Amino acid sequence: MSNTEKEIILTGDRPTGPLHLGHFVGSLNNRVKLQNTGKYHQFVMIADLQALTDNAENPEKIRQNILEVTLDYLAAGLEPDKTTFFVQSHVPALYELPMYYSNLVTMSRLERNPTIKAEIKLRNFERNLPVGFMTYPISQAADITAFKAKFVPVGEDQLPMLEQTREIVSAFNRIYKCEILVEPQAILPDNEACCRLVGTDGGTKMSKSLGNCIYLKDDEKTIKQKVMSMFTDPTHINVSDPGHTENNPVFIYLDAFSNDDMFAEYLPEYKNLEELKEHYRRGGLGDMKVKKFLNNVMQEMLKPIRERREEYAKDKSALLEILRKGTEHAIEISNKTVDEVRNAIGINYFSDQSFKDNFID
Ligand code: ATP
Ligand code: MG
Repeated sequence: MSNTEKEIILTGDRPTGPLHLGHFVGSLNNRVKLQNTGKYHQFVMIADLQALTDNAENPEKIRQNILEVTLDYLAAGLEPDKTTFFVQSHVPALYELPMYYSNLVTMSRLERNPTIKAEIKLRNFERNLPVGFMTYPISQAADITAFKAKFVPVGEDQLPMLEQTREIVSAFNRIYKCEILVEPQAILPDNEACCRLVGTDGGTKMSKSLGNCIYLKDDEKTIKQKVMSMFTDPTHINVSDPGHTENNPVFIYLDAFSNDDMFAEYLPEYKNLEELKEHYRRGGLGDMKVKKFLNNVMQEMLKPIRERREEYAKDKSALLEILRKGTEHAIEISNKTVDEVRNAIGINYFSDQSFKDNFID
């Protein structure tokens, strides 16, 4: 199958910090799996423009994280030969398309977006809400449609963005009587716990902005320290007390990351997670023991990722080259969509014969 026949996948990450377990289980893992099927043409975007929407006064943070995110991609198993890595700010289509799309979206529609509402609250924007932040779902629609992506492997927080994108696509194709733009669909993780992985503090979402993350680059000691101080069930005071496993981040992480082989290796008294949960609920199982097991699980999972990361970090100029090449490719592909979009709207004055026929000759 040639690249032009393959279905397209696009995702992105804000370079506001290194990537964490939430990114890994929510999106990265699926990207790697999809990449390795060989069936798709995949783009991954470092969303520096989107990161600027709430970091305009702190661009240094973004500069510092461009290569960090690239390293996380490589460490997780994305390969530049199979997946195009690119930087958002250097692809002109991604700021041209939002100009057209923003005329198809109302303010009240933007204000109804539940993810945006939650993020505004979290950032205490109140009267100082940047226009760019409010409109980033439109910019995201441009990112997805510029490449005609059909699939977007993301965490649950992105569903409202995809809904907004589909509305823009449908409005555009209807108003300009064309079928240029493609309606994307989300690919969510199979495991419920991974759709919105909670933070180590038990907060609703592991997020760079909340400081409740285990990063893919964390060393062994840091992982252990974060796991051992994780929030658990506050009503489980004595070992003999019955405990709650639901809404308990330690058990949520075990849901997301452990398997029966890990029980056989690190905690053979229990056959599987169900048995462990059962004992915790009954009482008589201490948090320390469960956390020690979780630490083993985390270490086993993160060690190969960290080692690959350290290997790639030895040649930083190669990372920049990966981004430069990928960005060139992204510019080429997205410019084709821009041409089609201009033609559909009818603002292609310099290349359109019918414009000349009607208004000049
Ligand atoms: P920020 O706090 O700067 O918004 P973030 O941690 O929310 O950062 P993003 O760059 O906004 O990360 O998200 C990138 C991708 O990772 C998205 O597809 C998002 O759904 C996914 N993702 C991020 N955090 C989680 C999480 N805790 N659980 C599942 N998926 C997540
Ligand atoms: Mg986010």
